[in-house]
Amino acid sequence: MARQAVELLSGPDAPLLKECGAPGCTRVYIDRSRGMRRHWCGMDPCGNRVKAAAYRGRRRGTPS
Ligand SMILES: [Zn+2]
Repeated sequence: MARQAVELLSGPDAPLLKECGAPGCTRVYIDRSRGMRRHWCGMDPCGNRVKAAAYRGRRRGTPS
């Protein structure tokens, strides 16, 4: 795992290397999404968790 990270850091994909933005997750990933707008290592579980949190946040802020 560590060696893989080092190889990524020195490889051609280094500029695409990002750290996951999900709370509690420290995984790094290669962002090959269009526009490099991804913010997490993967959809499961991080992407789903972030989206669920955003959804809950929106609901909480909406007046009933
Ligand atoms: Zn993650």
